[in-house]
Amino acid sequence: MSELTHPCTIRAHHLLCTLGFRGLGYSEEFTSSMRNVVEKLRSSRVFPLTLVVGCDIICAACPHSKEGQCFKESDSEAKATSLDLEILSRLGFEPGAQVPCYEAWKRIRERMTSEDMVELCSDCEWFGLGYCVEGLERLKSGELTMPEN
Ligand code: SF4
Ligand code: SF4
Repeated sequence: MSELTHPCTIRAHHLLCTLGFRGLGYSEEFTSSMRNVVEKLRSSRVFPLTLVVGCDIICAACPHSKEGQCFKESDSEAKATSLDLEILSRLGFEPGAQVPCYEAWKRIRERMTSEDMVELCSDCEWFGLGYCVEGLERLKSGELTMPEN
């Protein structure tokens, strides 16, 4: 499993994926790594993030990644990259932005809606479970709280 760096490099759309994570994933190594990342992102409001367009710490443990690219399907890297860029744009961050966790969660709360997620994510294989929209709604309603420190 890849070690978490400090700051943690995370591809922009994975911020949303972490909100809906319930232990499912592409392999045991993937879910273990994802759980680790989710815990880190929720461990401190100032945990430092670098928001990137491209493969990250989560991809590193994914069986679909190879040489820093997503090969889930032939167009997956292009689609994932486009989604990263769109999320960054909607959140008002530049690619490579370095931000504390709380700033990312704050922008998601303020700027992302369930309708956005339907628009952006509905062709993702995990979307139909409803976990990601529910995670976003829990964040926006305050039910999913992030740490104070
Ligand atoms: S639907 Fe897919 S891409 Fe969208 S947040 Fe969920 S897991 Fe991530
Ligand atoms: S499916 Fe692709 S974008 Fe998603 S975690 Fe795996 S390598 Fe990364």
